Amino acid sequence: MNNSDPIIDIGVNLMHRSFNQDRETVVEKATSAGVAPLVITGTSLRSSQEAARYARQYPGKLYATAGVHPHDAKSCSQETIQKLKSLATQPEVVAIGECGLDYNRDFSPRDVQRRWFGEQIKLAMELDMPLFLHEREAHQDFVSMLKEHGAPKAVVHCFTGTYAELKAYLDMGFHIGITGWICDERRGKPLRDLVRNIPLDRLMVETDAPFLTPRDLKEKPAEGRNEPAFLQHILQAVAKCIGRPAEEVAKATTETARAFFGLQ
Ligand SMILES: [Zn+2]
Repeated sequence: MNNSDPIIDIGVNLMHRSFNQDRETVVEKATSAGVAPLVITGTSLRSSQEAARYARQYPGKLYATAGVHPHDAKSCSQETIQKLKSLATQPEVVAIGECGLDYNRDFSPRDVQRRWFGEQIKLAMELDMPLFLHEREAHQDFVSMLKEHGAPKAVVHCFTGTYAELKAYLDMGFHIGITGWICDERRGKPLRDLVRNIPLDRLMVETDAPFLTPRDLKEKPAEGRNEPAFLQHILQAVAKCIGRPAEEVAKATTETARAFFGLQ
């Protein structure tokens, strides 16, 4: 079904329980759909450790991030940061995160979110690793915290914000991750208009599977679960919005992701 070079899914929550029964098949399906390698998102110390352990079995095909999501910030401690630090020295771990601020759900108190986000920014800078960032309704605090640390190398994953927010991120040198949100006929409209403003050397694509299943898939997946194999569908949507051939966007986003995460 695919004759061009594979594309890279920079955000897959592959350790999520919805993949417990068929994780290996999901990876194989992605490979045959031309989606490889995958970067597994770590969202807590435990899921980061599991992600690294799993990625280690597929060298060059799976990578992982190590971090604590703002939802889980309340579980973070100095000891967690030390454990993330030692995990990050493993060759399959390619970024610190998912970390950031989420004032939409507020699953952790905001001051607690800020404290442990700050510690993870410092960790990434100390280790000279890129950050995999999450931000929801916290743009001002998020930007000022990152500026405070000298705007480290980072990707703002699952960007769904405004033009002004996009511009602020690009001005700070950040990369932008685009998910199947763009395929949502109603909610994705602003993003479809904005995506052309992202230079190809700053743009990466991701599924955020098992979440954010593209709403316009012809064949609806079982239980609505998103999978990395659907990244091809998202890439087509992105290419259409940018007005460039899909092959060109595929090639560019793959090169961008390889350089950003330092993948072989
Ligand atoms: Zn996220």
